[in-house]
Amino acid sequence: MHPLMQALQPVLAQRNQSLVALRRDLHRHAELSFKETRTADVIAQRLRAAGLDVRTGIAGTGVVGVLHGDRPGRVVAYRADIDALPLDEVADVPFRSVHGGVMHACGHDGHVAIAVTMAELLAERRRELPGAVVFLFQPAEEVFGGAEQMIAAGVLDDPRVEAVLGLHLINQFPVGAVVARPGATMASADFFDIEVLGKGGHGAFPHTSIDPITVAAHIVVGLQDLVSREIAPQDAAVMTIGQISAGTKHNIIPEVAHMGGSIRAFTPAIRDQLVERLSAFASRIAQAYRAEATVRIQGDGTPPVVNDVDVTERVRRGAIELFGPAAVLDGMPIMGSDDMSLFLRERPGCYFWVGAGVPGKAMNPHHHPGFEIDERSLDVGLRLALNAVLDALHP
Ligand SMILES: [Zn+2]
Ligand SMILES: [Zn+2]
Repeated sequence: MHPLMQALQPVLAQRNQSLVALRRDLHRHAELSFKETRTADVIAQRLRAAGLDVRTGIAGTGVVGVLHGDRPGRVVAYRADIDALPLDEVADVPFRSVHGGVMHACGHDGHVAIAVTMAELLAERRRELPGAVVFLFQPAEEVFGGAEQMIAAGVLDDPRVEAVLGLHLINQFPVGAVVARPGATMASADFFDIEVLGKGGHGAFPHTSIDPITVAAHIVVGLQDLVSREIAPQDAAVMTIGQISAGTKHNIIPEVAHMGGSIRAFTPAIRDQLVERLSAFASRIAQAYRAEATVRIQGDGTPPVVNDVDVTERVRRGAIELFGPAAVLDGMPIMGSDDMSLFLRERPGCYFWVGAGVPGKAMNPHHHPGFEIDERSLDVGLRLALNAVLDALHP
C-alpha cells in the first residue's frame, strides 16, 4: 500500500460522515446536463477552500481543480461526472431531490462526493504528495457532451496529464465488489435517425400510394440481420430502434415515417461497419418498395471505453490489497456507454466499477426513478480511487 494511503487510513473513517453528507446534499439538489450550476458552485467552493487551483465554466458548467504536490511525480487526472437525469424520484428519503423531474438516478452525486473528498484529503497532505492531480468535474455525461468540450478546452494539456482515472458506482454489484477490466469495457454509442418518404393516400387504396409504415417495419426487422448475419458471432453489437412515428389516423396512409435508433459496439471497426451498412441497407429496402429512406447519423458518437492494460492491472492489484481477492470480480464488458471514453482515448487510464447494491436486495437499475445506492459504497470508492491515484502519481 502507498505510504500516504497508509497515513490516511485513520482520517478516512472520520471523513465518512461528511462524505455521505455531501452526496446527500448533491442528491437533494440534482441538476440536469449542462445546467449543473449549483453543483459546480459547491465543487468550486470546496476545492478553493482546500487550496487547489480552480477553473470554472469549463464546458459550460464543468470545474477543474489542480492540486500540485510538493514532491516530484507524474500528472494524473481524476474524472467525476456531475449531472442528473430527467426523472421524478419515487423514493421517500429525507434527501429526496427537491427539483421535480430531476433526479440523481445514476450515482453521479456519489462520484462528485468521492472526488471532492479525495481532493481535500490529498490537499491536506500536499507536502508528501508526488506530482499533480487534475480533478475533472465533468458536466453532461448523460447526454454525451461534457467530456468532448472539456478536452477541447485543454483540460488534459495544462499541466500535461499522463494518465486518467475514474470510477462509476454500479448497484448491480453488491457494495464491497470492485470490477476493473482491461481493454474494451463499455461500448461505443451512435445515434441515428431514419426518414422514410413514401406517398400518402387513402387506407382503402394502398396501390395508389407508397406506404412508408410498411417500409419502416421491414427496415426495423432487417436491421437486426446486420448484427446477426454480418458481424462475427463472437463479437458483440446492438442495434436498437427506440423511436418510431408515423401517421395520424386509422385510414390514412401517411407520407413519411420517422425512426430513431442507436448502435453499440466494442471496436471502432464494427461500429464503422454498422454505421456504413445502415445507410445502404435502409435506402435499398426502401427502394424495393418504391420509397426513399434517408439515414442521418448524429455527430461523431461516443467511442468505446478502453482501459489501459497496465494501469488497470495496478488498479486491480490495489483493490485486492485493500479489500481482498474475493472483492475483485471479473465482471463482463457492458453495452452501456460513457464519454469517459474520450479521456481514455487521449491518455492511458482506467475506468472502474464500484459495487453499490444493498447485499441481498433486488435493486432498481440505474436510470430508474427508484434508483438507490448503498452509501457504504462511497467509502469503498474513495479508498480505491485514492489508492489508484497515489499509485499512478509515482514516477
Ligand atoms: Zn447514467
Ligand atoms: Zn452514470
